[in-house]
Amino acid sequence: MAEAASFTPVEERAVREAYAAQGHADCPRCAVRMRERSIGGGSFGLGYARKREWLLCPQCHRSVLFDLKRGTRN
Ligand SMILES: [Zn+2]
Repeated sequence: MAEAASFTPVEERAVREAYAAQGHADCPRCAVRMRERSIGGGSFGLGYARKREWLLCPQCHRSVLFDLKRGTRN
């Protein structure tokens, strides 16, 4: 079975950059505001804080998953 459609790497990067700059992003294909969801937040007892942000286009259902690493030092 096919996975859900996805963005090209170029589109995905555009979404990431827009989200980083503005705190929200529009779908590069549909020009509609993408929905934001937070995933995780330490509720799984993994021993490290990791925040994920998931942007989903309500129209074409393509999504971009962000790995926001916070509090790490490297
Ligand atoms: Zn879309």
